[in-house]
Amino acid sequence: MVDLIGQYEKIQAEVDQAVLNTIRSSAFINGPEVKSFQAELEKYLNVKHVIPCANGTDALQIAMMALNLQPGDEVITANFTYVATAEVIALLKLKPVLVDVYPGTFTLNPKAVEAAITPKTKAIVPVHLFGQCAEMEAIMDIAKKHNLYVIEDNAQAIGADYCFKDGHKQKAGTIGTIGCTSFFPSKNLGCYGDGGAIFTNDDELAKKIRMVANHGQSVQYYHDEVGVNSRLDSIQAAILRIKLRHLDEYADARRKVAAYYDKAFANHPHLIIPERTTVSNHVFHQYTLVLKDADRAKLREYLAGRDVPCMIYYPVPLHLQKAYSDPRYKKGDFPITEWLCENVFSLPIHTEMNEETLKYITDCVLDFFSKK
Ligand SMILES: *Cc1c(COP(=O)(O)O)cnc(C)c1O
Repeated sequence: MVDLIGQYEKIQAEVDQAVLNTIRSSAFINGPEVKSFQAELEKYLNVKHVIPCANGTDALQIAMMALNLQPGDEVITANFTYVATAEVIALLKLKPVLVDVYPGTFTLNPKAVEAAITPKTKAIVPVHLFGQCAEMEAIMDIAKKHNLYVIEDNAQAIGADYCFKDGHKQKAGTIGTIGCTSFFPSKNLGCYGDGGAIFTNDDELAKKIRMVANHGQSVQYYHDEVGVNSRLDSIQAAILRIKLRHLDEYADARRKVAAYYDKAFANHPHLIIPERTTVSNHVFHQYTLVLKDADRAKLREYLAGRDVPCMIYYPVPLHLQKAYSDPRYKKGDFPITEWLCENVFSLPIHTEMNEETLKYITDCVLDFFSKK
């Protein structure tokens, strides 16, 4: 699905030197590389504060802890997402309130969000799924009206530009109260291990986030509250500094792949190509198609037999997962999410794909239908 080796080879000399320098400096934790990466990412995103942490799941958890959300508080999020979003809500004994997404863009439907608000609602967590933004402007309006926090799960859309109705643009993850991201190796900005970060424009909140991520201390050995230990290490920061300089060009490469797939699959009787939202550009963390009247298991088998990778993001909606089953929800309650989980499939998309590979993949997919 990704070609991390091919990508590494293009920046190998620079990366190897940076890693070696970090080892030689022995500043493994909170070293200068972490500070520099933080400052460079703040500049790139045009956000006041970037707080690096250990991974994207921690970023979401720390965000919710820093906002002082309390057990029983309701947090609205998309049902069609990676589990981490709901996991941290449940872990903190908050109450996940799931809502359906749009069938075309796979992102949170603001109308469904507003319908799910109760007096106990404290926060909304939109997920910028597969590389394009949820409708943040509408979501922020709802949040303002009901006095709610907004935590953007930006693990899949770092670098995407959100476009407001008045024409001004802001980077994904910098619009809500807090933004969270992951530097997992296969993400658009991936390190060579685990990593994550939290973004905010609020000075007080940034202090609180740093404190929570650092054992609840603002002065060493004085713990004002119960926190966690979540850090980005210096070697990962050194690698991320290099890759950040390539992030926009990586997004362009991904968009080229998407354009090739679009052209091959547009107007196909059994394939729905990913809809583009009008509110942001797309950085294509995934290229996800929806099948129409076709057998997904057979397609996967056919592709596997031809060495074409194909993944299902995501096969089971949260409300039908054992860990997140809840008497409030039953099968049939989220028709769009359930339909998507049964019919989506994602094809390889990364920065190192060439025309030959793309032709092979698209031919294989098209052959499956023509041979039926
Ligand atoms: C990857 C991902 C996360 C979690 O990131 P980790 O670094 O793996 O903990 C959270 N939300 C979404 C939408 C993701 O894709």
